[in-house]
Amino acid sequence: PSPAPGRVDVLVVGGGQAGLAAGYHLRRAKADFVVLDAQDGPGGAWRHAWPSLRLFSPARYSSLPGRMMPAPPGGGPPSAADTVAYLADYERHYGLPIIRPVHVQGIRRDEDRLAVLTDTGAWRARIVISATGTWWRPFVPHYPGMDDFRGRQLHTAGYTGPESLRGERVVIVGGGNSAAQILAEVSTVASTTWITLRPPRLLPDEVDGKALFDLATRRARSADVADTGDPADLGDIVAVPPVREARDRGALKAEPMFTRLTATGVAWADGTELACDTIIWCTGFRPALGHLAPLRLRGPDGLIPVEGTRALGEARLHLLGYGDWTGPASATLIGAARTAKTCVADVLRQLAS
Ligand code: FAD
Repeated sequence: PSPAPGRVDVLVVGGGQAGLAAGYHLRRAKADFVVLDAQDGPGGAWRHAWPSLRLFSPARYSSLPGRMMPAPPGGGPPSAADTVAYLADYERHYGLPIIRPVHVQGIRRDEDRLAVLTDTGAWRARIVISATGTWWRPFVPHYPGMDDFRGRQLHTAGYTGPESLRGERVVIVGGGNSAAQILAEVSTVASTTWITLRPPRLLPDEVDGKALFDLATRRARSADVADTGDPADLGDIVAVPPVREARDRGALKAEPMFTRLTATGVAWADGTELACDTIIWCTGFRPALGHLAPLRLRGPDGLIPVEGTRALGEARLHLLGYGDWTGPASATLIGAARTAKTCVADVLRQLAS
């Protein structure tokens, strides 16, 4: 497409997996659309993940519509680099009209259209699908003494692998998949302490991302969430091979949350202190919704209320990806693939009406 800004029916903000899945359905419908993406190349957040990160589902359950992710040559779940390669091939194969790098700075109402302001000019669209993900807004909770700590503090988003931590005393905070996977490898080169709000809950070995997706779908369809035996009732952390290995070597024992940081480490309410060199905050992400601020749609929880993927306060805006609030497991590859289909069907109905 011409990189010159102009008018389009549908403008997708974000060219990660969610934006590509929407692009696939828009392309099939021969819609007039463009995808604007802030990155220099394909892959969205996967471009920035640490090298050893593995998907928690096999390739066949991690695919966008129309084209299966190939199983990695060595077997096992795909890596972040495998995922980037797959997404690059996907957008090339379908000839998706993606323009990079373009940063969307703000979206506002402009009569019958939405005006999309970018660092390379302004677009006007009848409908915007926002698919900007969460990686760009790392979340770190506040604890007293954070500024006094003289060691290093990292977030998942800035973690690049265990090498720079070799021989250190490392505190890893967080009870989810990122914390467990990072702990599994850092504990092979450093002395680690794992800190979680609640005792960490490992899923049984046979439960993978596919099972979690099925659960999210069942929950979305049914008001009854008290189904005993559901995987999420048994735990939260997927036992990918490195996590299993760490569990079997006894490295997955967690301590309760500390109450403050000191100059040299962390401390608990009873006065116990632990010295450390680095703290890794594996404390999650928030949706990257800053470009939507001019529309003033956020609810008290910081999210934008939606029906399906359509914003309740602005029917010309759809939100895709981000988390379960925009569709079952829609921050994952398989979930984004399913939600993109219903999202685009709704968009096409709107354009036709
Ligand atoms: P992103 O990949 O973040 O793509 C959004 C794109 O929008 C980016 O290219 C970004 O640069 C661009 N963008 C953002 N803001 C703007 C703007 N203002 N203007 C223009 N462009 C913008 N999922 C699985 O399916 N399986 C897994 O095993 C799995 N493991 C995960 C492990 C970790 C540690 C994390 C963090 C996530 C994992 N996920 C997994 C979740 C999920 O697949 C990723 O978070 C995924 O990248 C989300 O895709 P997305 O397209 O919604 O967002």
